[in-house]
Amino acid sequence: MTEYKIALMPGDGIGPELTEATLKVLNVVQENFAVNFHIVYAEAGDAVLKKRGVALPEDSLKTIRESHVCLKGPVGETAADVIVKLRLLFDLYANIRPLKAFPNVPVASPDIDMIFVRENTEDVYKGLEYNIGNDVTVCLRVITRQNCERIAKHAFETAKIRPKKKVTAIHKANVMRITDGLFKNVCQETAKKYPDIQYNEMYVDAAAMHLIRTPQNFDVICTCNLFGDILSDEAAQLIGGLGMAPGANIGDNFALFEPIHGSAPDIAGKQIANPVSMILSAKMMLNWLSEKFNDTACLKAAEAIEKATIQTLLNGLTVPDLGGKASTQQMAQAIAEELTN
Ligand code: ATP
Repeated sequence: MTEYKIALMPGDGIGPELTEATLKVLNVVQENFAVNFHIVYAEAGDAVLKKRGVALPEDSLKTIRESHVCLKGPVGETAADVIVKLRLLFDLYANIRPLKAFPNVPVASPDIDMIFVRENTEDVYKGLEYNIGNDVTVCLRVITRQNCERIAKHAFETAKIRPKKKVTAIHKANVMRITDGLFKNVCQETAKKYPDIQYNEMYVDAAAMHLIRTPQNFDVICTCNLFGDILSDEAAQLIGGLGMAPGANIGDNFALFEPIHGSAPDIAGKQIANPVSMILSAKMMLNWLSEKFNDTACLKAAEAIEKATIQTLLNGLTVPDLGGKASTQQMAQAIAEELTN
């Protein structure tokens, strides 16, 4: 049995609470499935900046480099110095954000099952901002063929194994003719290689509207870094809020899993945050390990986590965000107990 080394980054705000909750589930996974973890903490974020003067210390990077995978809680104001940097350093070019309607959760439509495939390494998040004097500032938008090609390919490969088999490319190529023009052209070229996948395009403003009006019509959404960030937060509200939204940052050789939300300082320390976002991120981590290391035990564990989450939701043992009265840890404990059934 392989022992997977996981670099665990609790983060800031609700991060440590969600991490404690997720560990409850991972511990039960170890006891009940043929999967072993060696968990090593890697600190990063606002609190670490305050304590050590650096948000992402070199020893944390070393821990991540020496691990099979990284599981991360949200970080606060230092997100650009932590997650944006990690995405670039490890070339985690695909940000995967599945948004699915789960039972007994307030959702806009029970048929919502979409997945964002967001480019993760360029666009305006490259950090190329300049103050060029006289109160004039500039932010460079970088879009390259290489990154458009690999994100489009990832989107179509994702659609291939999903029931609806549909890719929607979202851009604003009528205004940003060169940068989004390139993105659009590459998506169209890629679509031709996948004749069995239905392909359409939307301008980002129209997409923001259609997501609210007919969310059940979306399947795989392929988009650039900034639009993907904004639209996925919007779409999360359709499935019960950010607490229901897990995420993955995937590269060719490494992957990092984290909820899509930030550190939610307004509810930190109250034990009312929804732990599902991070528990399902851990589930996605197990899916990735199962594919990368051809490990069926990880796949079984991943499927069991989703089933246990659904059963807990059906039982109504949920945090206030979802209409229940349970605390973050009580909900996680309930999911962990369902896992043993
Ligand atoms: P940051 O500055 O770290 O990004 P933020 O408050 O600006 O934090 P988010 O943390 O992304 O933004 O979250 C926005 C709001 O969504 C939070 O204030 C919180 O009320 C809610 N929220 C986010 N995550 C969860 C969760 N897991 N459970 C319940 N509510 C959540």
